[in-house]
Parts: sequence; C-alpha cells; structure tokens
Amino acid sequence: MEIRRFFVSRCDIADGAVTIRGDEFLHMTKVLRYKVGYKAVVCANDGVEHTCTVKEIGRDYARLTIDCSKVVDKKGVSITLYAGLLKNNKLDFVIQKAVELGVDRIIPFTSANCAETKFSVDRANKIALEAAKQCGSAYLSRVDELISIDEMAAQLKNYDSVLFAYEGERKLKLSDALREGKHIALIVGPEGGFQPDEAENIINAGASSVTLGRRILRAETASIIFCALVLNGLGELD
Ligand code: SAH
Repeated sequence: MEIRRFFVSRCDIADGAVTIRGDEFLHMTKVLRYKVGYKAVVCANDGVEHTCTVKEIGRDYARLTIDCSKVVDKKGVSITLYAGLLKNNKLDFVIQKAVELGVDRIIPFTSANCAETKFSVDRANKIALEAAKQCGSAYLSRVDELISIDEMAAQLKNYDSVLFAYEGERKLKLSDALREGKHIALIVGPEGGFQPDEAENIINAGASSVTLGRRILRAETASIIFCALVLNGLGELD
C-alpha cells in the first residue's frame, strides 16, 4: 500500500506522537479509509518527515506514533510570490506550480489592470496542500488573503530583497539584481500588467524591477519562470 503524506501543525507533534485533525483527518479516514495499523508520512512544514503508524482513530482525530524522523529538506531561503489576480481561476495553476518549485508563500493582489475580483483563500490553500502532497514536499506553502497593490507595497520593507518582474523594464536583468537573503519577495502582475504609477510606487517601496526578456510573457508563464530562475540562482533547485 502506498504510504500517504499528511500535514500537521508543529504543536500536533509531541512525545513521539502525532495528532491529525480537521481536513487532513477527514481526508485520511473518509477519503483514504485509513485504519489502525496503517503507515503515514507526516510533515509539519519544517523539512522533517515523520514516518508513523496509526494507533487510534477517534471521532475527529487520529493518533499516530512516530516510527522514525528524518530531515529531508532544509531550505536556505523563504520565497514569497506576490501574484496579480488572474481571470478564470488561472491563479490555481500558478499556485500549483509555485508550490512544486518550492515557493513558501503566495499572496494574490489586485491592481488597476486586474480583470478579476473573485478569489477564495480556502480553495487556494487546498490547491497548495494537494500540490505539496503530490510533489512530496516536506513544506506546506501558504496562500494569503487577497490584498490591494498598495497593501503589497507597504509589506515590501519586510523582505531582504524584492524582485519585481516588470514588462516596462528593459535593462536590469534578473542575474544582475539577484542578491542573497533569507526572505525574498517576487512580484508578477496580472494579465493587464502594471500602470506606470503602480510600477513607480513598487520601485519606490524598495523593489528592483527586472526584465524577463524581450518578449511579453503571459502572467502565469512569467510567475513560473521567475520563481524557477530565482530558486535556481539561489541554489535551491540543486
Ligand atoms: N499587458 C501587459 C503585459 C502583462 S504580462 C503588456 O502588454 O505590456 C503579465 C505580467 O507578467 C507582467 O505584469 C509582468 O509582471 C510579467 N512579465 C511578462 N513578461 C515580462 C517580461 N518580459 N519582463 C518582465 N516581466 C514580465
């Protein structure tokens, strides 16, 4: 039987045991029909995999004992992707791919040229959870609530480095702007791109605008290639 992966909070791991609750409990017991004695791999978003055995299944929790734990992935950097909200659920695709690549946090934003207004943070986090399980990650990426472009600009001071994929930037290449840091933010616009004053505000808030080449990429292509190039440049895809 395939050993399935589950994510828990760190506080659900104590004294050699793990408690699975909420949606992960329902998935484990109702969808996968886990029983006492089954094996599971449990992660708590810290790069450690715990191989466990189910000992008890309660009404709304399952208790597992840890058979062995090992560090499988130590990230040197935390990447946050600010992504302009896209039409027709196209952000789902961006979330899935960003999680597969190892992005830690995705924060969608609205701006003047956004054609979409609807966004469900619960649905987005389900997509992130599924992607983390599917790609065998020991980290659970988080998707935040939708914010405005001004709120995004106000948050940029919290990062060591902010890289802004701007279709209006012709000179600065990513390889020249990439700097080491623990917390790095990436910004990619919606289908309609950025208004000049929006781009100026983002740059004034401390971001370095970079070009992703002389062709205009679709927003979802830009997000994926941007994340991949940055993660590779920082040695996180080695
Ligand atoms: N409608 C805009 C393009 C938007 S592309 C226009 O015609 O100019 C969507 C987003 O992808 C952009 O806002 C930017 O963040 C990113 N992007 C696409 N191509 C890019 C490029 N060549 N360089 C930098 N960013 C790019």
